[in-house]
Amino acid sequence: MPDNCLFCKIVRGEIPANKLYEDDDVLAFRDIAPQAPVHFLVIPKKHLSGPSAVTAEDEPMVGKLLRVGNEIALKEGTPHYRVVFNNGAQAGQTVFHLHMHILGGRNMAWPPG
Ligand code: AMP
Repeated sequence: MPDNCLFCKIVRGEIPANKLYEDDDVLAFRDIAPQAPVHFLVIPKKHLSGPSAVTAEDEPMVGKLLRVGNEIALKEGTPHYRVVFNNGAQAGQTVFHLHMHILGGRNMAWPPG
């Protein structure tokens, strides 16, 4: 777990977060700058810099991100939602710890901007 990674600090409890779910593998918390009425992140506790760092051993964890995200979305009353993984700065990634965005509660445009 890199010392200077923002989301590793949230995992370690060094920075507060509005947590929605936590187990041994994953953590979900509300995005600090929500872009939709419901906007939360689901992250692995294991540090990976982003989608391109995922290897075969991480495949079960990636599936768990989706399952946990869906369960939270249903609890939040947003069964229709968008899932976003940004990979790299040009794609909009600003925090280099793998995270899955779930956004819901409003209509979504396609293609995304
Ligand atoms: P990305 O641009 O895909 O790297 O997404 C990073 C997300 O993390 C952004 O939506 C930020 O608003 C969010 N974020 C940054 N710092 C925090 C924090 N301390 N707690 C919750 N969300 C955060």
